[in-house]
Amino acid sequence: PLFQNAAFFISAHHLRDLPPASGIEVAFAGRSNAGKSSALNTLANHNRLAFVSKQPGRTQLINFFTLGNDRHLVDLPGYGYAKVPEAMRAHWQNVLARYLSERSSLGGLVLVMDSRHPLTPLDRQMLDWFCPSGKPVHVLLTKSDKLSRGEASLTLNRVRKELIETWGNHYNSECTIQLFSSLKKQGVEEAEKVIGKWLFV
Ligand code: GDP
Repeated sequence: PLFQNAAFFISAHHLRDLPPASGIEVAFAGRSNAGKSSALNTLANHNRLAFVSKQPGRTQLINFFTLGNDRHLVDLPGYGYAKVPEAMRAHWQNVLARYLSERSSLGGLVLVMDSRHPLTPLDRQMLDWFCPSGKPVHVLLTKSDKLSRGEASLTLNRVRKELIETWGNHYNSECTIQLFSSLKKQGVEEAEKVIGKWLFV
C-alpha cells in the first residue's frame, strides 16, 4: 500500500517551521470542504492511519507525514472558507504561494476539488503558483458519487481540457485528472498509481 509505514511527523504554521527540503514530498491542497481529509483517510485506509482532519475555522496548519525513506505526504491547509479572518487568509495565501512555487523537495501536487464545483478562483490561483515549476499536478474530482455517470464524465472531460490547455501546455507541466469518491472508494488505485510514481520513481 502507498501509505504503508506512514506516521505523523510535524505541524507547521510558517514555512520556517517545515523540515529541511530533502527527499521527495507530495502535497494535497484544496478548498475547505472539498473532501481532502476524506480523500487522505481513504488513501491511508490500508493501514488505518488517522490523518488529522481539519475543521473549518479552526487554526490551520501544514501537516507533515513521513512515509519512511525520506518520503513525505503534506496536508496543506484548506482555503476559501468564508469565515476565516482576513489576516489569517493573507497569511495562508502567502505561505501557500511560497510553498508551492519554491519548495524544492515538492515532487507533485494533488489538487482536490469538489466535482460539483471544480476550478474555483482559488483553485486556479494554486495552479498559477505551482505550475510554473513545471512539476506535475493530479486533480481529484471528489464526491463523484453525487453526480450521475453522464454528468461525471462531462465534468471530467471539461475540467481536463481546461487544465491541460491553461496550465499544462502553458507551463509544460504534466496535468492529470480523475474522478474520486471517498464514500464509494472510487478511484483509489488510480490515485495511488500517480502518487506512487512521483514518490518512488
Ligand atoms: P476537507 O475540508 O476538504 O478536508 O473536506 P472533508 O473531507 O472534511 O469533507 C467535507 C464534507 O464532504 C464532509 O461532510 C464529508 O463527509 C463529505 N465528503 C467527503 N468526501 C466525500 C465523498 O466522496 N462523497 C460524499 N458523498 N461526501 C463526501
